[in-house]
Amino acid sequence: MIDKLVIANRGEIALRIQRACRDLGIRTVAVHSEADREAKYVRLADESVCIGPPAAAGSYLNVPAVIAAAEVTDAGAIHPGYGFLAENADFAERVEQSGFIFVGPRAETIRLMGDKIAAIRTMKEAGMPCVPGSEGPLGDDDRENLRIANDIGYPVIIKAAGGGGGKGMRVVHTEAALRNAISLTRAEAEAAFNNDIVYMEKYLDRPRHIEFQVIADQYGNVVHLGDRDCSMQRRHQKVVEEAPAPGITAEQRDNIGNRCVQACEQFQYLSAGTLEFLFQDGEFYFMEMNTRIQVEHPVTEMITGIDLVKQQLKVAMGNRLPFQQEQITFRGHAIECRINAEDPDKFLPSPGRIVQYHQPGGPGIRVDSHVYNNYVVPPYYDSLIAKLLAHGADRAEAIARMRSALFEMVVDGIKTNIPLHQRILRDAGFQRGDVNIHYLEQRFTQ
Ligand code: ADP
Repeated sequence: MIDKLVIANRGEIALRIQRACRDLGIRTVAVHSEADREAKYVRLADESVCIGPPAAAGSYLNVPAVIAAAEVTDAGAIHPGYGFLAENADFAERVEQSGFIFVGPRAETIRLMGDKIAAIRTMKEAGMPCVPGSEGPLGDDDRENLRIANDIGYPVIIKAAGGGGGKGMRVVHTEAALRNAISLTRAEAEAAFNNDIVYMEKYLDRPRHIEFQVIADQYGNVVHLGDRDCSMQRRHQKVVEEAPAPGITAEQRDNIGNRCVQACEQFQYLSAGTLEFLFQDGEFYFMEMNTRIQVEHPVTEMITGIDLVKQQLKVAMGNRLPFQQEQITFRGHAIECRINAEDPDKFLPSPGRIVQYHQPGGPGIRVDSHVYNNYVVPPYYDSLIAKLLAHGADRAEAIARMRSALFEMVVDGIKTNIPLHQRILRDAGFQRGDVNIHYLEQRFTQ
């Protein structure tokens, strides 16, 4: 049992985790930076500890400070949320070594999946379809690299093994550009991730991003909760997500979903996780696995009726999953719009005071947000201020409800991307539901 838990995160996910804890009777400790002292979830938590200055490096990424907060409050567990320390294997290890439960996968799994080359190798061995590629790190032999690229066929993409957040990738269209692209990506990867290992993949020109949610307990039970389409992206950042992915047949869903389950059984996955795929011309290609709860998890919650954060907490406490694969059913359609504090045209962050805030409502609407009237969006962190979700009996109803909710929502005093979402929801391509990952940038950002 966990009776007190440290939430090592901020913003909407800190509030989300707190709500799940309250459902389960777990007391919460909010750890926060000096910039988040006034935050709603800090006030609502049973206890709070200030762990450092506004800059995340000194606070939300400060491993000793987070662990010390758990010690002084006598907590039993730490939930990392997403971002910050969520996929830091060393942190997970330190948490467990200090005698706390880490709400997430085992440290060795986080480490395995954090190395993209090892992750792809593991998935391939488990029978997962992967993007054709170098199947290992690229060496310094130019001729050998040219041969690999020729075998794969141009265009290719050079990716950092330790990459993340859409950084450390470079597309190469011609033989002449290959050598330079490899050394540039290597240098970038070394600077950004402290790891200069790079690999090569076939660059798919118009894929959709489709991912599968899994959840696993400590006894080897793994269940998949269907798919999500996250193709609406800008600079590899998701903007709109939905579940289920439009146009994917029940047979395709079962097929890939079951392979995800089998793979997770093989490497003894624990907790919630997401397997990300590119989907083009009817084929799925595994890309990477995220070993944490994701921003877009609520669309899956809405169509399955399962509270994923609550299940994460329960499996962390040693409970068995309360359902089997056959019991998972999908009801209707759900869409999420990420509402960011940013200029809707120029995409520059727009922090500051929200002078008026009004949340939409009505059937099928859910808002996950930590903001309120007079809340000041700090300039130090991610610009996500709310996740607006709409559920409907089918996709058309979900779209109609989302349009109405976007029309109702008021965030005054700062700029937000609500106008961009309104344009996306009206767009014919989005309404058809088969757009690829380049669509948003080509259509909405000149
Ligand atoms: P990160 O961990 O940084 O998110 P990913 O490997 O998930 O990196 O890739 C991020 C994005 O880059 C994908 O969502 C997709 O848009 C694009 N991408 C990655 N690999 C390929 C590929 N082989 N072909 C085309 N696009 C790709």
